[in-house]
Amino acid sequence: DRLLEVSRLNKTYADGTAALRNVSFDVRRGEFVVIIGPSGAGKSTLLRCINRLVDPTEGSIRFGGLETTRAGTRQMRAFRREVGMIFQGFNLVQRVTVLRNVLHGRLGYMNSLTGALGLFSGKDTEEAKKILQRIGLAEQMYKRADELSGGQQQRVSIARALSQRPKLILADEPIASLDPVTSEVIMQHLHAICDEDGITCLVNLHQVHVAKKYATRIIGIHKGIVVFDGTPDELTEDT
Ligand code: ADP
Ligand code: ADP
Repeated sequence: DRLLEVSRLNKTYADGTAALRNVSFDVRRGEFVVIIGPSGAGKSTLLRCINRLVDPTEGSIRFGGLETTRAGTRQMRAFRREVGMIFQGFNLVQRVTVLRNVLHGRLGYMNSLTGALGLFSGKDTEEAKKILQRIGLAEQMYKRADELSGGQQQRVSIARALSQRPKLILADEPIASLDPVTSEVIMQHLHAICDEDGITCLVNLHQVHVAKKYATRIIGIHKGIVVFDGTPDELTEDT
């Protein structure tokens, strides 16, 4: 049961940098895929092509049967709702409450006027609170995002993604700016989402030992080329 099909993907930036070269792989529903590679390998470009923040130069990306590189505005709106993003820098709205940040994940479901006015239903609010409880942030709900630690902020961004009810979560170096202990907490939350909710995860990392601990599958990229695709056990020091 394939959720995502990436086929012969190429991305060359305007300055001539070939960031992705003929990248192909399929992802089945429920997989926890870690994309691993050094800085500059093309991991971030890959995720940004998948969520269409970046236009690929060549190739195709199918998500649940939709060819995203050819999708129209309405299809893209539905697509954006189904794909949650988590970034290294958390990307929260710093000056508003944690609860409101999580509610922002619901915006894709609403018409833009009520969303812009910040009008959420009681049901949306109850659900956001439940998600925050689950992720251990019930106490922080009414604090401003900028009052939280980095690890807490990353948990808010996971909660925000969950409130979209996504089918796929793309996480671009979600633990790169966190200490090792906090990193484990974040990885455990991502793993739980995949395990318990069946949400497929694609996570960019550069730490091999973390990848091996959490991934069901690892894709290694180097200089824009897929150099490894297999289980954590198959990944040895010399691959
Ligand atoms: P990673 O996420 O693995 O660190 P990136 O996808 O960020 O890799 O970068 C891959 C390559 O593409 C690098 O050489 C990087 O400098 C280059 N690159 C990334 N974004 C751009 C851009 N907007 N314009 C030009 N080159 C870019
Ligand atoms: P990453 O953590 O993914 O490696 P970087 O810190 O390399 O990201 O890049 C941060 C931003 O700068 C990104 O938006 C990326 O697209 C852009 N960028 C990276 N490399 C280049 C480049 N060579 N030319 C132009 N923009 C770049």
